[in-house]
Amino acid sequence: MNKAEVLGRWTKEKSEELYGIKNWGNSYFSISDKGEVLVNPYKDNASSAISLMDIISGIRDRGLDMPVLLRFENILDSQISFLNNSFNEAMKKLNYKGVYRGVYPIKVNQQQQVIEEVTKFGQRYHHGLEVGSKAEMIAALSLMKDKEACLICNGYKDEEFIDLGLYAVKMGFNCFFVIEIPYELDLVMERSKALGIKPNIGIRIKLSSRVGGHWTESSGDRSIFGLNVSQLITIVDKLKEINMLDCLKLLHYHLGSQIPNIRDIRSAVLEATRIYSELVKEGAPMGYLDLGGGLAVDYDGSNTNFVNSRNYSIEEYCTDIVEAVMSILDTQDVPHPVIVTESGRATVAYYSVLLFNVLDVQRFEEYELPEKLDENTSEQIKNLFDVYKNISLKNIQECYNDALYYRDEIRDLFKHGRLSLRERSLSENIFWNTINQIAKEKQKIKHAPPDLEDIESAIADIYYSNFSVFQSIPDSWAIDQLFPIMPVHRLLDLPKRNAIIADITCDCDGKIDRFIDLHDVRNTLPLHEMKNGDTYYLGVFLVGAYQETLGDLHNLFGDTNVVSVRINHDGTHDLVKEIHGDSVADVLSYVEFDPKDMLVNLRQTAEEAIHEGLISAKERQEIMKAFDNGLRGYTYYED
Ligand SMILES: *Cc1c(COP(=O)(O)O)cnc(C)c1O
Repeated sequence: MNKAEVLGRWTKEKSEELYGIKNWGNSYFSISDKGEVLVNPYKDNASSAISLMDIISGIRDRGLDMPVLLRFENILDSQISFLNNSFNEAMKKLNYKGVYRGVYPIKVNQQQQVIEEVTKFGQRYHHGLEVGSKAEMIAALSLMKDKEACLICNGYKDEEFIDLGLYAVKMGFNCFFVIEIPYELDLVMERSKALGIKPNIGIRIKLSSRVGGHWTESSGDRSIFGLNVSQLITIVDKLKEINMLDCLKLLHYHLGSQIPNIRDIRSAVLEATRIYSELVKEGAPMGYLDLGGGLAVDYDGSNTNFVNSRNYSIEEYCTDIVEAVMSILDTQDVPHPVIVTESGRATVAYYSVLLFNVLDVQRFEEYELPEKLDENTSEQIKNLFDVYKNISLKNIQECYNDALYYRDEIRDLFKHGRLSLRERSLSENIFWNTINQIAKEKQKIKHAPPDLEDIESAIADIYYSNFSVFQSIPDSWAIDQLFPIMPVHRLLDLPKRNAIIADITCDCDGKIDRFIDLHDVRNTLPLHEMKNGDTYYLGVFLVGAYQETLGDLHNLFGDTNVVSVRINHDGTHDLVKEIHGDSVADVLSYVEFDPKDMLVNLRQTAEEAIHEGLISAKERQEIMKAFDNGLRGYTYYED
């Protein structure tokens, strides 16, 4: 029995509970009465929900293959609105005198379409952009229109970068240079003098507050970014000396991404606000307090301070920040600044869904074993068989130890030529049935022995699936990040199998064997049995942040097809943009092959094969055609 079967007769509600969609879906994702995953960017209007299966069929009709990355532009719109409205409401409720001006950090998802949509949807809130490099700066300048929005320049800045920022100021943009290392100030001043443009200066500080989570290194004294307190004072003195303290307008810090605990967020805001108020007392005009990113996404839906979750809502985040800033400034009579945050992850994570099909399944099956073993079977195999026959709830740990012991003994005997391959095969079958039996018994007890914690994944089915972990969800591989994964249809059927997912790279790390769970991390995912002839589709959700450009070309699997979807209020939808994924020729040219040369080379090889009498001229033509088709094709498995 798997976890699903324990829950009894199957319904949509049980699928909701099993896959946790209500916990992590943020009301954007739900399950329909037909048992399909629905997407609904307008949380309050149920009639606009669209089934992912309808979108898949539209994509297939247009001739696009899986895997496909879907981007829902209305979800991006909704998230930007939600963040801005939450800050605005918190400020109103608490009688805050300043305003909120969010910026979207381009590095979180740099696709042109994403930035274009952020600037478009963000305009009504004056939501701006944050850039961390020259290339991002150039991208931002090409798309930004709103002069009231902030353009924050972080990262190391050379002369070219600084000149672009100064020109932005000249054109009327609200552009800030954030000083990350002391040396940058001299360069900014030098260029400002040369171009005759006064810069807006911000300073990034290192806070002493440290935070929990994946990215703790960005915070605390060990952080490689930002200025410490004495460097900050040196900069203030320098600005005073050259009579430019009036350029100092912004204080910035960034604790790192995905901060799961609201207490860490609060204590950082308090520390930074203290520094802010001291800078005002030093005579700097200030006016902007930029709290960086870190607003977390509840990937597992547990609402806890676990690394893949967060123990606060966006509303609480906003209220806590506004409250903390006021609590310090109001006692010191310092005016309320514009609050800036650089939320990337929370802005774009919900926006994208990765869809792929399952290609094949390696099922774990019980082996058929004889009732009794042959008289002259080796002693060790007989012993293993006895272990198998005598498993009970009380002795599973002991049976597990014994099974491992005899299996290893038998493998040794085989190595030394004392057992045949058939005998070894029999013993392995007995062994796996034993493990399976132990796993079944284990289900019945509450606190299983620690050795058996992971036993299910040893006997899990493997669902071979048409995607690359490295290309599409690199953080799953690199930092063990969890993403919600579930079938997007058949959700009225009981998912009888326990599975792990393997991708089509030939790397043993190309798999997913940790899954979200409310209380823990799950080692297997309940999935449906494959039906002959029917395609089984899985979705990986909340992949809009960081995954697209961190992805790599492992095994030369390239970018997937991308389809942008706009969902209309009346429940219709438009596929507004299709971007074809990389072809084989594309990915080969990234690694410096030249497809033209390759064709020439192969033609030569084939010509020689004709000379040697291995193929005919006609066959050469067919071979060349197959090669050429291959070059043009999608890097993933095509139907
Ligand atoms: C990466 C980064 C962000 C984005 O952080 P999220 O946690 O994704 O919101 C913001 N600011 C800076 C300086 C960053 O480096």
